[in-house]
Amino acid sequence: MPPFHHHTPTTLTEAIGLLAQANGSAQVIAGGTDLVLQMRNGLKAPQTVINIKRLPELKGIEYDEATGLRLGALTTLRQIHRSPLIQTHYPILSHAASQMASEQIRAFATVGGNLCNGSPSADQATPLLALDASVHLVGPQGMRALPLHEFFLGPGQTALRPGELLQWISVPPLAGQAIFLKHIPRAFMDISVVCVALRLAMAEDLCQEARIVLGAVAPTPLRARQTEALLTGQALTPERIQAAAGTAAVESRPIDDAKGSAWYRRHMVGVLVRRGLSALGGRAGGRAGGRA
Ligand SMILES: Cc1cc2nc3c(=O)[nH]c(=O)nc-3n(C[C@H](O)[C@H](O)[C@H](O)COP(=O)(O)OP(=O)(O)OC[C@H]3O[C@@H](n4cnc5c(N)ncnc54)[C@H](O)[C@@H]3O)c2cc1C
Repeated sequence: MPPFHHHTPTTLTEAIGLLAQANGSAQVIAGGTDLVLQMRNGLKAPQTVINIKRLPELKGIEYDEATGLRLGALTTLRQIHRSPLIQTHYPILSHAASQMASEQIRAFATVGGNLCNGSPSADQATPLLALDASVHLVGPQGMRALPLHEFFLGPGQTALRPGELLQWISVPPLAGQAIFLKHIPRAFMDISVVCVALRLAMAEDLCQEARIVLGAVAPTPLRARQTEALLTGQALTPERIQAAAGTAAVESRPIDDAKGSAWYRRHMVGVLVRRGLSALGGRAGGRAGGRA
């Protein structure tokens, strides 16, 4: 690994100043579980690494019944998995975190790193998209908020501008029921071959609102909008679920790679969407959940 300068700011203002000074040659590090591998493999060679782990402004999990969740970018996957607040109000996030990496990695890996790495298979991205989350970014020009669905631009590419940090993520109160399903060859420690996050708000057996989000099957995590439209205003009959699963498979844009062929991934999108919708249909009226 080429040598680099290392800074550990203790305030957000200091961190923004250091990023501005570096003028694009710096890379931020949080848990390091993506970045260190990328640096070891020569994919990234920053001249300066700015460790943000000590910034209090990027920490914390807060919930308000009216406004929902405020999740600091430095919240670890372990905290998301174990937080009683998240388990109660957003079980889909807790469940998705439990399906990621290992206990040891979850103790370091952050939700901010998961989103900012810009991977199409980021397992916190799909449930956060299904929950209509927004990201709150801070940089030399001040703060701005962006709906999460505008944040992902391509593999490894996000809407973060030079010198900007993701400070926190907001999630509105959960409307309806939500579920996260992940397909991997082993029981754990694998990046998703396919993952899906589904959220349905039902009223009197009709779907009022649908969010169908697909992971690892397009250059970015993908909202399956045609599938959402097919479900909205409809009853979740077996025929409607089957049609939605087929539409989601068609909407996905997977590629062949070492983890699976495009054909297999598309097939698995249909399988997971069908399973998820069937599970949510069975739970309509019950407590929101999230499980494989
Ligand atoms: C063995 C192993 C298993 C894994 N399994 C999974 C899995 O199952 N699912 C999954 O989705 N991922 C998995 N990962 C990937 C990784 O652990 C996650 O993406 C993790 O959440 C990254 O967080 P981090 O804090 O370590 O990010 P870092 O490596 O510190 O940073 C990642 C990127 O985000 C940027 N960044 C970080 N925080 C911010 C911020 N606040 N503002 C601006 N930029 C920022 C960094 O500059 C860097 O480019 C795995 C990794 C390993 C090594």
